[in-house]
Amino acid sequence: MAGDSRHSERAERAAVAALTDSFVAGLCEWIRIPSIGVEPTHHVDVRRSAEWLAKELQQDGWPEVEIWGDGPTLPAVFACWPAADPQAPTVLVYGHHDVQPVDPVERWEHPPFEPVISGDEIRGRGASDDKGQVAMHLLAVKAHLAATGQNAPSVTVKLFVEGEEESGSPHLRKLLEDHRNRLGCDLVVFTDTALHQRDAPTITTGQRGVLGAEITFTGGTDDVHSGRAGGAIPNPATALAKLIAALHDDDNRIQLEGFYDDVREPSTKEREDYAALPFDEREWLARNGGGAQETSGETGYSTFERIWVRPTAEVNGISSGYTGPGLKTIIPASATAKISFRLVPDQHPHKVKDQLERFVAQHTPEGIRAEVSLRGEGVPPYAISPDDPANDAVRTAMELAFDQPVRFARAGGSGPAAVLQQFLGVPLVYLGATLPDDRVHAPNERVVVPLLLKGAEAAAHLWRMLAEADIAKRLSR
Ligand SMILES: [Zn+2]
Repeated sequence: MAGDSRHSERAERAAVAALTDSFVAGLCEWIRIPSIGVEPTHHVDVRRSAEWLAKELQQDGWPEVEIWGDGPTLPAVFACWPAADPQAPTVLVYGHHDVQPVDPVERWEHPPFEPVISGDEIRGRGASDDKGQVAMHLLAVKAHLAATGQNAPSVTVKLFVEGEEESGSPHLRKLLEDHRNRLGCDLVVFTDTALHQRDAPTITTGQRGVLGAEITFTGGTDDVHSGRAGGAIPNPATALAKLIAALHDDDNRIQLEGFYDDVREPSTKEREDYAALPFDEREWLARNGGGAQETSGETGYSTFERIWVRPTAEVNGISSGYTGPGLKTIIPASATAKISFRLVPDQHPHKVKDQLERFVAQHTPEGIRAEVSLRGEGVPPYAISPDDPANDAVRTAMELAFDQPVRFARAGGSGPAAVLQQFLGVPLVYLGATLPDDRVHAPNERVVVPLLLKGAEAAAHLWRMLAEADIAKRLSR
């Protein structure tokens, strides 16, 4: 068998190499369509982007290609390529084709929707997030067919590319409900995550969830003179500051009652993998810390553990009273703080909402009225065990493509992985090949082409490997 897999490895790499020029040209064409989902004037472009993708899939030979979404739902693209063997597992690849706005456009070194190739990079909005990675999977299927000489993939591959991810996937559940009968699968492959570093490839095994809330403390109906009433009525700004101060203890542990009850500790293996990743605190701060001088966080955890496997509570903004030039001696009528929680398995946004409401009630002094408003229902966290057979297969496929050990990592941000996983009821793994410094959501977004090619090669290996009997059996356990 070793001989066989070495043969395949070369075949997949050669197939990817032979398809590289057309891959780059196609991706550049797609980037030219400004599919900014959050800007209504660009909704016509989101549709054009979906149509472009659908046409590309048809040209590649995908037998079933559909555009989903009507009314307020921006178009998503669904495609299916059944395996020749009806017993083969079914894999659903998730990605998105909407892109972030381009503001501030004057900070771009070239027009965001006129992609340029510079060295081994393609620069343009959506190059990395997420058109590049969706295109990577189209390439992977082509390479898999070319390498195996088959005219259908070894596993049934379904593709689901939504158009509202950057808007927080407001209609994702509805799309899933409406098309439940088309989406059945044994495994979801989520493709919207990055490698740790160019020379330190990683597989994401989870994303944190998020819950955003706004807390308002109100005293009276008007600001009042601090000399005439100060000292004799409650000050909402002071009260809110006390609440914020009480959110963490001296070890930076969050003080909501029951907050840590459902927190799952990472496995020893995961902690070992995180510790083995290259980490230079100064360099990390320079790249990620927005100019911060020191790292800080929960006692007893490393920086990676703090951002990947520990929950947080962050104050995102505070406003109250007079903040203009000079001094205005008042007691403000109200004070507001925006707070967000990043959540980890197995916390649930719903429970944290209740915990927060209790915490606010406990910290509301007499004479102050409190109001907590939630920003949506929150995004649940998700993680898959590194020992899961599907995850193990991803690691093997990645190591074949990258020619080096691939470690497990997680993403600190949030996405619709948990929604997909819970709705479809199957394991979800991540296969991404971009970089944390691709400037996604920022000016001058880029993607590193050789990494996308390796990602495509890894996916091509994965389709072949997942069809191998033992993995298929374990998947549908
Ligand atoms: Zn994305």
